[in-house]
Amino acid sequence: MQDFFDPQWGSATLGVRAAEPRTANREHSAALSLTSSYVFESAAQAAAVFSGAEPGYIYSRFTNPTTEAFEKRLAAMEGGASCVATASGMAAVLTLCLSLLRQGDHIVSSRGLFGSTISLFNNVLSRFGIGVSYVDQTDLAAWEQAIQANTRLLFAETPTNPLVEIADIAALADIAHRHGALLCVDNCFLTPVLQQPLRLGADFVIHSATKYLDGQGRCIGGAIVGDAERVGKDVFGFMRTAGPCLSPFNAWVFLKGLETLSVRMKAHCENAHGLAEWLSEQASVRRVFYPGLASHPQHELARRQQSGFGGVLAFEVEGGREAAWRVIDATRLISITANLGDTRTTITHPATTTHARISAEARAAAGIDEGLLRIAVGLEDLKDLTADLARSLHL
Ligand SMILES: *Cc1c(COP(=O)(O)O)cnc(C)c1O
Repeated sequence: MQDFFDPQWGSATLGVRAAEPRTANREHSAALSLTSSYVFESAAQAAAVFSGAEPGYIYSRFTNPTTEAFEKRLAAMEGGASCVATASGMAAVLTLCLSLLRQGDHIVSSRGLFGSTISLFNNVLSRFGIGVSYVDQTDLAAWEQAIQANTRLLFAETPTNPLVEIADIAALADIAHRHGALLCVDNCFLTPVLQQPLRLGADFVIHSATKYLDGQGRCIGGAIVGDAERVGKDVFGFMRTAGPCLSPFNAWVFLKGLETLSVRMKAHCENAHGLAEWLSEQASVRRVFYPGLASHPQHELARRQQSGFGGVLAFEVEGGREAAWRVIDATRLISITANLGDTRTTITHPATTTHARISAEARAAAGIDEGLLRIAVGLEDLKDLTADLARSLHL
């Protein structure tokens, strides 16, 4: 591993240069260590490595050079001391919660979370005696009021999926720390190129690497970034024992993805901004949700806390589910899939896909209308995206 890098480098440089996994063969592009285990020179060396007295790889459930390079590079980009890669974004949420929380603990969470995270909290963690209270992402007083004596974790995703509501990360970190709790931010939508929650006071960053870190829709993976104690020891220790680890192959894909992340995110932002402006001018579109529009209620906060507005937007059409499905079915270029963070633009109807498993009341409370559509804007030419949507919107 070529370990030298300057943490002061910009995120484009860190994405290309931090933690290059170079072996004795001096590869210029990262080598892939596709091995489950490692051999030793002697019984004594095996004992020394197992005991931690001598550094070295043992078994790829918890130590692999390719996975380690991805972890170090992402940690450098997020400004964190440690990173643990996981099998998926959901495995990252689960791993963080099981590493940090115990029976009787309580989470305060934004209501506008990724659907599976809500299911995980409600249907899985609840069975182990971990409670959760949901609040409006943007209502700081509600976050504070929901805190109980046993609250250990505040959990936010910003911008939210699909309504792109912004959480004030510095303010939430302050609330958490005043009450002896910790703040975790799901940074999937913006990536460290556009937002660095740890620098704003958050304790943990969660990623679904499946999205922009990969960037081409190939692999499933995730990561937790934070300090050397809680992530480097507690989360790593849980990973070592419980094993929801990232495949080294997927780590290699993500490592290469980080090299182009900066240019890709800028292009996603530019396309999304253009599309949001175009949608705002269409008669059949009732509302457009994009933090880059001056009409977004937290436009100023987004400008302050992010260095770009991201590639995801949502909009509401007149006519509810039927009209929304009609828009989707008339597209020819845009992919009908709930995935995001891909080079390819995708469109989805949250009420019947990503948010179908939560109750109708919870959906309504989260503001997910039947006429709402989410677009994760890819890297095609903007004129071709607007042409595709023009046909479907003007049916
Ligand atoms: C996709 C996603 C996740 C879950 O990640 P997987 O890799 O699909 O397990 C979590 N949070 C957000 C914001 C996501 O978009």
